[in-house]
Amino acid sequence: LVRMQSLHKSYGPAMQVLKGLDIEMQPGERLVVIGPSGGGKSTLLRVMMGLEKIDRGSITFGGKPYISSDGLDKKTNIDTEVRRSIGMVFQHYTLFPHLNVVENLILAPCKVRKERKSDATERAVGLLTRFGLAAKAKAYPAQLSGGQKQRVAIARALMLDPKLMLFDEVTSALDPELVAEVEQVILQLAAQKMPMMIVTHDMWFAKNIASRVIFCAGGVVVEDGPPEQVLGSPKEERTRDFIDRVF
Ligand code: ATP
Ligand code: MG
Repeated sequence: LVRMQSLHKSYGPAMQVLKGLDIEMQPGERLVVIGPSGGGKSTLLRVMMGLEKIDRGSITFGGKPYISSDGLDKKTNIDTEVRRSIGMVFQHYTLFPHLNVVENLILAPCKVRKERKSDATERAVGLLTRFGLAAKAKAYPAQLSGGQKQRVAIARALMLDPKLMLFDEVTSALDPELVAEVEQVILQLAAQKMPMMIVTHDMWFAKNIASRVIFCAGGVVVEDGPPEQVLGSPKEERTRDFIDRVF
């Protein structure tokens, strides 16, 4: 589904974040990315969304060139059609505060895809119902709990029928009692075979959602394997140290 080759990304000469990252993702996989703070996990997902330019390397999506850079002029080519097929949810809710929940959900489909408002609304209500949010359709973001906001953010991303979902620590800003309701929604998507890349510090969630775990540190992939191996009995000492400290 996704092939990242030799991704390099720096924020200025003194801040090299990705130093030749290679990741291949098969259709239907759920990749959990773990690693030390500042290691470039968010940068990686932002690159995937075209929010950061890479200095070097390439990404293909579904076998098609998606992002590439020749390394000389730092100009990054991105295929916007492909980008629209990737959905992302961030740690901090990014709902539009002046729009109610349904309006948040239908904005992109109506604007980008020129979908009829009535059709988009019907789909939105369907998704909200699935996520236990039907009663909140007309609520504004400020009237929602953190967990509800994140579930709305996930529903909004799904409105564009993504072929891949990216989640960057979507529960780490939440009160503990709200974490489960958001994780359940993501597990529900996983059960429907949605491919996803997930950055999380939640061990329980990582174990339950991952089909594969990647430990990134120092801008490269240190270890890559099934969750039982990488989380349970890592081969690399750096992975072991990290897991002992964090989980
Ligand atoms: P965390 O687990 O804390 O979320 P992370 O693995 O997601 O960390 P990134 O957010 O990708 O790490 O950041 C990698 C490094 O790049 C950090 O040292 C960060 O300070 C730096 N960085 C990130 N964004 C920028 C930016 N826009 N300009 C300059 N430096 C940045
Ligand atoms: Mg991060």
